[in-house]
Amino acid sequence: MELTKEQFIRDFKDALHEEQLIRVADATPTELFQALARTIRKYITPMWLKRRNQLVEDKQKIAYYFSIEFLPGRMLETNLLNLGILEVIKDGFDELGIDFTSVKRAEHDMALGNGGLGRLAAAFMDSLATTGYPGFGNGIRYRYGLFKQKIVDGYQIELPDDWFGSLGNVWEIRKDHDIVDVKIFGHVYLSVNEDGRVVPVYENSKTLRAVPYDVPQIGFENGIVNNLRLWDVEIPIEHEMGYPTIEERRKITDITAILYPDDSSYEGKELRLIQEYFMTSAGLQTIIKSYLKQGLPLERIHEKVSVHINDTHPAVAPAEFLRILMDDYGLEWADAWNATVKTMSYTNHTILSEALEKWDAELFKSVLPRVYQIILEIDHRYVAEMAARGVDASMIEHTRIVKDDQVHMAHLAIIGGHSINGVAKLHTELLKEDTLRDFYAIYPEKFNNKTNGIVQRRWLQIADEPLSKEIDQVIGTGWRKDIHQLRKLLDYKDDQQVLADFYRVKQEAKERLARFIAETTGVEVSTNAIFDVQVKRLHAYKRQLLNLLHILKLYWDLKDNPDKDMVPRVFIFGAKAAPGYHFAKSVIKLINEVANLVNHDESLQGKLKVVFLENYRVSLAELIIPAADVSEQISLASKEASGTSNMKFMMTGAITLATLDGANIEIKDEVGDENIVIFGMDKDEVYRHYEQHDYYSRALYEANPTIRRVVDSFVDGTIPNVRNEGSEIYEALITHNDEYFLLEDFESYVAAQEKIDQLYRDKEVWARMSLINIATSDKFTSDDTIEQYAQEIWNLER
Ligand SMILES: *Cc1c(COP(=O)(O)O)cnc(C)c1O
Repeated sequence: MELTKEQFIRDFKDALHEEQLIRVADATPTELFQALARTIRKYITPMWLKRRNQLVEDKQKIAYYFSIEFLPGRMLETNLLNLGILEVIKDGFDELGIDFTSVKRAEHDMALGNGGLGRLAAAFMDSLATTGYPGFGNGIRYRYGLFKQKIVDGYQIELPDDWFGSLGNVWEIRKDHDIVDVKIFGHVYLSVNEDGRVVPVYENSKTLRAVPYDVPQIGFENGIVNNLRLWDVEIPIEHEMGYPTIEERRKITDITAILYPDDSSYEGKELRLIQEYFMTSAGLQTIIKSYLKQGLPLERIHEKVSVHINDTHPAVAPAEFLRILMDDYGLEWADAWNATVKTMSYTNHTILSEALEKWDAELFKSVLPRVYQIILEIDHRYVAEMAARGVDASMIEHTRIVKDDQVHMAHLAIIGGHSINGVAKLHTELLKEDTLRDFYAIYPEKFNNKTNGIVQRRWLQIADEPLSKEIDQVIGTGWRKDIHQLRKLLDYKDDQQVLADFYRVKQEAKERLARFIAETTGVEVSTNAIFDVQVKRLHAYKRQLLNLLHILKLYWDLKDNPDKDMVPRVFIFGAKAAPGYHFAKSVIKLINEVANLVNHDESLQGKLKVVFLENYRVSLAELIIPAADVSEQISLASKEASGTSNMKFMMTGAITLATLDGANIEIKDEVGDENIVIFGMDKDEVYRHYEQHDYYSRALYEANPTIRRVVDSFVDGTIPNVRNEGSEIYEALITHNDEYFLLEDFESYVAAQEKIDQLYRDKEVWARMSLINIATSDKFTSDDTIEQYAQEIWNLER
């Protein structure tokens, strides 16, 4: 949009004076942020309205992305960048004597997600608007975001993330016009109405009021504003039970109160099922209503609507869609089913069995009695159809939706939709040949891959502005609009000046992070050290513990030989553990105590430092990632479906140290073998152990003195100030046979770390690797991922 500095200053002052009655000089950063955000919202509104009207007028097909999580982080800077007014606003603030950075930091992260899954959903919102496709989000407006993590005495403490505060979310708009009701619980029986139609009759059900709040999603310099719709629950005014008690009211408002803090695992909790159904039903009801306004026949709704199921949390969607089409609008099963399958598509995010949602049938039936009847009918028809097709009986049994008194949500999403995709090449191959192989045999045409991506605007242009300016100097600014122009950097891979400049920019980012580390933890770190970073959710399969084993190995090396020739290292961690995940919390405690051990040991001569940064979240990632020399992506091969932080690190010039897992493989394909450091078993070697049952961690422990010494450190008093955590880790590794094969990968990990040490010694070699990583990271823009979803799954037009 067009905006002059003078106009902006007038608008901004109006917002501050008229709405808040404060002078610039007296305003706090939070007040300045509120006034700025309100000013921006005024700029957005006309574009938002225009977009809405245009889509209705053109009767364009719209894709709705259903996700139980969205993790956008802060919105201010990305909104300004995408509107094309970031520089004008910064200039205006300069003139007013306001520090932009402190104002931007006053915004609370919008943390309605756990990690990668929610971040991907947020990235897709940005990319949908940027590519210009009509794609809207549908999720939950949680009262509290993911918990705030504090580290006290080395332990994780969880505090509520009261992200609304007293001021609310400035970016959202409540849309009373689109309120709908959602029914849960009670009993349902079928009856015949006056028209001779079979209709369900509900008894003793509870009605929830679903209230939508819309958050604008702005495209990059294209004037397009899409919609992210988040649902809140309210108590219907005309409550059927008369006046609900305080207890009953609390039960209802609790439905959207908290985001479940689990990542890559699930618990069969009733409230979670209600959350999933609530946002799915509310979203589908409004979608169908708005489709009908176009005056088109309902049995052809798939021509104008796509519904995407992000992981299994919204996987009740096919059954709910059928229910609405039949019960509320009178469609026959055959027409409703045809439209449903053509509307729905599903993304699988994991092969971890503990993360595949299966609901206890009794619980499901008690919460969603009518939907359960419909699921039984889908299941019944599926079994009959497959039998008629001559499909093997055991294969039918494996793939049906309801079996062993459980409802298998992934099965419903696959059978009830036309597309299922994995999130990286390897992951999709594993789905086809292992996890979902029976489905692949039945529906090969439904399977496809869509490798995840990241928003280069946030991770490069905003988070690493100094690097972005350096890139401008070398290849011009065209890459900001067309990311593929980053490849022009390859022409400079032997240009000593460019390499030196890039190296300097990285050092400056490290200095900023070093200052933050000193301020927040009191630990002094040298920027001559390699900044070796692992930031992601804490999970056994991600193997933060392998990283810690290597740190202990270095510790013992230095204790044995203080003059050991090594480049100094700073190991930086950031990770939240699910509050009920005991093992993960023990790993956090141990990282913190190993940090205490090494950071205070003078004999190590500052060669080894360990830092755990609390409360890892998007805004902290934006500070940490540009400062990394080494990106730790060390999950057990086959377990990390894609990973996306691996892409963020690559884009800002870190060297990836990785197993052949998830998108690491595709990063390797882009940068070439010489510009990444790979170690460990590949997926075939891992699977061979599963087939042959021949993994014995104790044998590795007994045969290898280095492993023994490192593992013994957990139980021999080496690590101070720990209770049972050390012996728990020892038991996991030795007694319980090391589920994620850390000990088998240990030696090759150590060798890979030694290679990193050698490579880093030659600044030019390192800077060249770094530049090649940046130059080829265009491959992982989520704009291209969305282009593929739009073309190959949703069949959208711009
Ligand atoms: C990108 C991101 C993730 C995902 O990290 P992975 O290493 O891919 O698991 C998690 N949390 C935050 C805050 C992120 O920005």
